[in-house]
Amino acid sequence: MSADKKLDPATALIHHGYRPPAGFEAPQPPVHKASTVIFPNVAALRARSWKSREGYTYGLHGTPTVYTLEERIATLEGGLQTLLVPSGPAAIALVDTALLKAGDEVLIPDNAYGPGKELARQELAGWGITHRFYDAMNPASLAACIGPSTKLVWLEAAGSVTMEFPDLRALVRIARERGVLVALDNTWGAGIAFDAFELGDGLGVDISAHALTKYPSGGGDVLMGAVTTRDDALHLKLKASHMRLGWGVAANDAELVLRSLPSLPLRYAAHDAAARQLAQWWAGQSSIVQVLHPALPGSPGHEHWSSHCRAAAGLFSVVFGERIAPERVDAFVDALKLYKLGFSWAGPVSPVVPYTLSMMRDAPAWKGVLVRFSIGLESADDLIADCAQALKASGLG
Ligand SMILES: *Cc1c(COP(=O)(O)O)cnc(C)c1O
Repeated sequence: MSADKKLDPATALIHHGYRPPAGFEAPQPPVHKASTVIFPNVAALRARSWKSREGYTYGLHGTPTVYTLEERIATLEGGLQTLLVPSGPAAIALVDTALLKAGDEVLIPDNAYGPGKELARQELAGWGITHRFYDAMNPASLAACIGPSTKLVWLEAAGSVTMEFPDLRALVRIARERGVLVALDNTWGAGIAFDAFELGDGLGVDISAHALTKYPSGGGDVLMGAVTTRDDALHLKLKASHMRLGWGVAANDAELVLRSLPSLPLRYAAHDAAARQLAQWWAGQSSIVQVLHPALPGSPGHEHWSSHCRAAAGLFSVVFGERIAPERVDAFVDALKLYKLGFSWAGPVSPVVPYTLSMMRDAPAWKGVLVRFSIGLESADDLIADCAQALKASGLG
């Protein structure tokens, strides 16, 4: 209906006849928000298809803003199709729920992101989907775990908190030979550090799950996840579950990520350079027994990082040995001034978290307390000075 002078103002304000001229172009894409999507006629409504990106059906399944971000994330990761979900764990959950059914088994690295392991232990187990945790640093461990009911193998590089970099090509090859789908949690690499879909030797993952909350957002103020593929049939399978589960994202959140994406390569490089400077400095400190950063020689999986990657995320951990009382480490963390205590990473501030190793792994390779640093965009020299003063203040320096 078009505007009509005879309409009551209450109606005219809703059914207004003005249409701005088409063809507006600006550096940032427009923000289209909707639950209801309006069809031009009955035939168009009846012909709607949530499977195709040729049109729109309902705001939950995509607006121009969401489609635009999906396309850009697919490009970032070297995939062909992307689905957006409300968080990183939702990306993991979408892959698991879409691809697994009762009687199936999923294999997860024992150093994977914790909530993904908990999902397997709780919800998946409750639905009759079994799981096994394998040692990502020992490909034979994956080979030994794959059985007739294995339908999905998860990878993560680098490992969560302990930062081991696995031999991705070897792990993908084992799964491929057994005909099992491979999904990677690609949050650390973010499409920048390595090409998940082209790892070399003709090998690549089938699915990349990515917590856009981290580098693509870059602000510490948006929660979002993405599931990227290179296969139409696999994408449609995921998309069908995505629709039935109702996991869409808000256009305003998509807008924030779209605004941050152009600076992602620059930010990733800056976080990387600063984190390596910090990690080097820590390697010279006598209070710790190891620095865990895959780009540092001597760190677990450094050789695999070297052969797969051209960059690294701004994350590393330091291990305070058993001879240092955990309370001392806590005092060190509390004495930090620039670093902030908190989870997540890849925003402007530098979060720090102490972890007790024995609580994280069945058989941790190290004993004692580990502190995970996520380097933000502050000056690396200031962050080093902050670590030095906190070590002194806690009697460790
Ligand atoms: C942070 C993170 C997630 C979780 O995503 P959020 O959207 O931040 O909750 C999942 N996987 C990995 C590897 C992560 O680092």
